[in-house]
Amino acid sequence: MRQITLSNGTTVEVECLSCALTSGLVQPDGGVVIETEHFHAHQDVAYPIKGLIILASKRHIYCFDELTEEEQLDYISLLTKIRKAQRDVLGIEHVYYFYNEDTSHHFHTWMVPRYKWMNEFGRSVESVRPVLRHARNKMNNQENVNEVIQAISLLTKALHGER
Ligand SMILES: [Zn+2]
Repeated sequence: MRQITLSNGTTVEVECLSCALTSGLVQPDGGVVIETEHFHAHQDVAYPIKGLIILASKRHIYCFDELTEEEQLDYISLLTKIRKAQRDVLGIEHVYYFYNEDTSHHFHTWMVPRYKWMNEFGRSVESVRPVLRHARNKMNNQENVNEVIQAISLLTKALHGER
């Protein structure tokens, strides 16, 4: 069990954070960006980077080869849609995808947009951790957080055909 503190300050104990999020037990800050039968996408606001989306399976699995054929199709289709929305409404040119099977949660893919300020941390996979740390420690100001919230709203609308 792990303890999670919600944005309203209350604490809940869950077995798996991804299960808690995809089942709706825990509501992500900024809301659900898009949801399908098998997947669930939200912004991780712990890292205030515009358009950083976490795409998680609803089933409690870990490895890519555990996806059913139906889930595989749903996954690639949704990943593509989110990617397109990132480009269309946020102007994101490149995205880094990060997914580790030995996660303490369950199957989820990070879609980390690249911005110019990230170049000082390098361009390889090793840059991802310092980029996230920088965002969490140095960009958690109200102005940037507001921009992140605005980006969530733009992505959500784009993904529901409301633009
Ligand atoms: Zn789970």
